[in-house]
Amino acid sequence: MEKQTLSFQAEVKQILHLVTHSLYSNKEIFLRELVSNASDACDKLRFEALDAPSLYEDVPTLEVRVWYDEAARTITIRDNGIGLSADEAVAHLGTIAKSGTREFMARLEGEQKKDANLIGQFGVGFYSGFIVADRITVESRRAGLKPEEGVRWSSEGTGEFEVETLTRPARGTDVILHLREGEEEFLSLWKLKSIVGKYSDHISLPILMRKQRWDDEKKAQVDTDEWETVNKAAALWTRPKSDITDAQYQEFYKQVSYDSEPPLAYTHNRVEGRTEYTQLLYVPAKAPFDLWNRDKRGGVKLYVKRVFIMDDAEALMPVYLRFVKGVIDSADLPLNVSRELLQESRDVKAIREGSTKRVLSMLEDVAENQKDKYAAFWKQFGAVLKEGVGEDHQNQERLAKLLRFASTSAEEGVGFEDYVKRMKEGQEAIYYLTADSLATARSSPQLEIFRKKGIEVLLLVDRVDEWMLSHLFEFDGKPLQSVAKGGVDLGKLQDEAEKKHAEETAEAFKPVLERLKAALQDRAKDVRTTMRLVDSPACIVVDEGDMSSHLARLLKQSGQATPGLGAGKPILEVNPEHPLVKRLDGDARFDDLAQILFDQALLAEGGQLEDPAAYVGRVNRLLVA
Ligand code: ADP
Ligand code: MG
Repeated sequence: MEKQTLSFQAEVKQILHLVTHSLYSNKEIFLRELVSNASDACDKLRFEALDAPSLYEDVPTLEVRVWYDEAARTITIRDNGIGLSADEAVAHLGTIAKSGTREFMARLEGEQKKDANLIGQFGVGFYSGFIVADRITVESRRAGLKPEEGVRWSSEGTGEFEVETLTRPARGTDVILHLREGEEEFLSLWKLKSIVGKYSDHISLPILMRKQRWDDEKKAQVDTDEWETVNKAAALWTRPKSDITDAQYQEFYKQVSYDSEPPLAYTHNRVEGRTEYTQLLYVPAKAPFDLWNRDKRGGVKLYVKRVFIMDDAEALMPVYLRFVKGVIDSADLPLNVSRELLQESRDVKAIREGSTKRVLSMLEDVAENQKDKYAAFWKQFGAVLKEGVGEDHQNQERLAKLLRFASTSAEEGVGFEDYVKRMKEGQEAIYYLTADSLATARSSPQLEIFRKKGIEVLLLVDRVDEWMLSHLFEFDGKPLQSVAKGGVDLGKLQDEAEKKHAEETAEAFKPVLERLKAALQDRAKDVRTTMRLVDSPACIVVDEGDMSSHLARLLKQSGQATPGLGAGKPILEVNPEHPLVKRLDGDARFDDLAQILFDQALLAEGGQLEDPAAYVGRVNRLLVA
């Protein structure tokens, strides 16, 4: 192929512009990115060679070499991995196939201190070379191609790149960085070694650099022609826990997650028994921008006997734990396992179950021993964990314990266990109220009797709460009961005198009730007296087993038809002790008052009036009377 000059894809140009103009802190990560690409290329060769061993071309040892040339001002990263064909060089080094680039740009633009670390997070690591280089040359030959089918790719990282064919006997890739003015600090073996040690120690193949020896004449260390392995070349997760420092765990996390913040917690275990595997799993401190995308693949990489198999193997973690990052290394799976096979494998099922339990134990531990940390976790990931309550019946109880809510006695952070501990003598149920917002919940009339009696009510205001509650009915043997459903049965919490008084009042109120029912027959399924209200005249409730009005509203908003409409008409409960209700009897404006009572009850629980103008008209008639 003649030398060709091609243009970068527009997104690449934008990235390059940012990389060369704004990334100043953490420049050194370019080496981590390029070594990691070299290591990925070796992983890919190993993987493809499972079916086609001839790809090794009689050189089965895979390795990465890093060296510099002071006179030429270059740093070279060489691997003997899969290599690139000319077409691949154009495609992979000239365009970005991945989504998320726009988010990356937006984030970089928003960042005050522009951190180069962000670059790897979005899968554009190769371009980080341009942080320190004003020209990058890539020389490569794909494994299996002829020596004449090599490629040279070269660019100054502005708008264009050049490609041409090259004869290259050696399989694999050289990435040659021509350093910018002012980046001389990287022309040092000591410097390069320390960066490799910091970021790439866990890389599971040897990284070779030149040996140094003491030169008596120069009175300094000088580089020799001998090579030595500078990393431990043992994948971090395969080393015994006791040999790994917290800093190493944290560094490894950065590499698997590209998160610039340290993880919230991690767990590392070797599981033995019927299925054998090692897991190193992390919970991030911050939710990613695409946490809500349930189709997003998980963040757990699958290895089989230390051979990298695939990124984001979703079968390894339940969807509700999609935020977990890390590595699972199986000793049992075949190396050529496909995504489809993973879905069906019994070993994978065992791994998923075991890993889920591990993550839950890790969260339980944080919840128990580091309450502030858990509160921070809950803010970021709580709503996702709630999905698990409905999806993972096996672990439902453990998940329920991890839930946190607001309540009438606390701003936030109330777990079922705390609630149960605070239950009043004689209280049999766990009471809750669902609403659109905390403000609506806190001012709901439904809570009045509970406040009066000092009974705590959990306030559930997340969109997933209603759905979650359709899967969770009790905790610790105590039923979950909505305070907005059915007649409130305070059970033993009401004394005999109160009950007797309630019955008598209800009896006396019967004739008025009948008239109310007639007046509201199109809107209310039933009208009845209640003891749940103290200061409010009336409230809306639904029958036990009917959909809560909050859920009905959510469904309506999302355009889903409400099943059994009509049967879903709410019940109006009135407070026979309230002055407004008392004056109903004998009032000439009975019909207007009845409608207003209903409308106001609807408004108070965050509902919307179907005919607001009619409501205003009625209120105005009262005001002028
Ligand atoms: P990522 O590594 O996340 O895919 P990069 O920007 O680091 O993104 O690399 C882009 C692509 O360039 C890689 O996916 C790979 O196809 C190709 N590539 C980069 N370095 C090498 C290499 N040393 N050998 C073979 N291919 C490489
Ligand atoms: Mg990369």
